[in-house]
Amino acid sequence: MQFSDLPLDHRLGKALEIKGFTQATEIQAQAIPYALMGKDLIASSKTGSGKTLAFLLPAVQRVLTKQPLSRKDPRVLILAPTRELAKQVFFQLKWLIAKHQLKAALVLGGENFNDQVKALRHYPQFVVGTAGRIADHLAGKSLYLNGLEMLIMDEADRMLDLGFSEQLKQINAAADHRKRQSMMFSATLDNAALHHLTQSMLKAPQRISIGISS
Ligand code: ADP
Ligand code: MG
Repeated sequence: MQFSDLPLDHRLGKALEIKGFTQATEIQAQAIPYALMGKDLIASSKTGSGKTLAFLLPAVQRVLTKQPLSRKDPRVLILAPTRELAKQVFFQLKWLIAKHQLKAALVLGGENFNDQVKALRHYPQFVVGTAGRIADHLAGKSLYLNGLEMLIMDEADRMLDLGFSEQLKQINAAADHRKRQSMMFSATLDNAALHHLTQSMLKAPQRISIGISS
């Protein structure tokens, strides 16, 4: 499937074109239409199959085309298990929003907390980070998620393996369930803890699994 066959905003089509991306990967072709409809999603496909754009394109499209619930709180929060993975997501996001008046903050453990507080005061529409540090900012009241429209958990299985389930629960509790869309991406789905997390964080999720028998 071509990206041009998907109901993507022309501004995103343009960004993809500049990057030289024309063909959507299978996970992108399947996940993007549901994500654009506002459905909760649990999706799995192997590493390197293009999961990042499968959630970033719908996230950016939402911010570009829909009115915000809040002008101050982030609209999209993306959680990743490690600093390195969060950075990779952040840089893909940066090129997607480069041409627009949109802000993104990268909030990682091990970095200066006050610098992050300052960045968050500029009201970024997107926050990308690791769960521990995001939870710290919630506790420190430097981050509020009342206006959150989209919660994305990248490599959710790894976040659980790394022991972030408590922080994920805190983040979940800080963001209103009724208003937000939640999406979970993972390389595997056969994980009891992940199943439990899905139950508590997603509402009637659409399940998409590419090339994995489960
Ligand atoms: P995953 O998260 O599933 O491991 P990534 O989102 O990191 O995979 O994507 C892997 C690589 O493939 C990245 O370098 C990304 O830029 C590239 N990529 C993603 N989607 C496409 C596409 N539709 N066409 C070409 N390259 C793509
Ligand atoms: Mg990935």
